[in-house]
Amino acid sequence: MAVVDAFWSSHWDDHFTGTYQSPHVFGAYVAGSPEAPRCGDEAAAPGNAFYCPPGDFIAWDVTLMRDGHAQGDSWVYLVVAHEWAHAVQRRVSGLRAVAAELQADCLAGATLFGSDDLVFEEGDGEELAQALTALADETPWTRSEDHGDAAQRTTAFSNGGSGGVDACLPR
Ligand SMILES: [Zn+2]
Repeated sequence: MAVVDAFWSSHWDDHFTGTYQSPHVFGAYVAGSPEAPRCGDEAAAPGNAFYCPPGDFIAWDVTLMRDGHAQGDSWVYLVVAHEWAHAVQRRVSGLRAVAAELQADCLAGATLFGSDDLVFEEGDGEELAQALTALADETPWTRSEDHGDAAQRTTAFSNGGSGGVDACLPR
């Protein structure tokens, strides 16, 4: 969260007007528990991570993160950067591309590869590709009609990683 927030704080002015405001972070929830957040009328789903526009917050099922983290720490960065990108989409009118989920993957790539605070370790690239593939295939977070298939997601993420935020903006 600190890495992603720092990226947008320092690079907001490079791309957008206005003042950057961080979204709220609800953080981890246990699906079905009374403490789990609601977004409007909707209960937080199991195995999901999401950005809630009305509440302007980000939240994730602790199980999604725990299972993902067991496969590599990059997973956690990817999920946070992706959901944060949805908050960015909401803040900038006209930003959101038609394929909003792929744009969020692209922005996540731009964030993580553009961060001054992250040092990539051997194997992180592989972990990220596997996380995008797993998320595209398996979890409700990424039914492929919502988020694109694994190849589309990996391509979008890499485009952001190599081309930065500009590569993710509508032309
Ligand atoms: Zn998304």
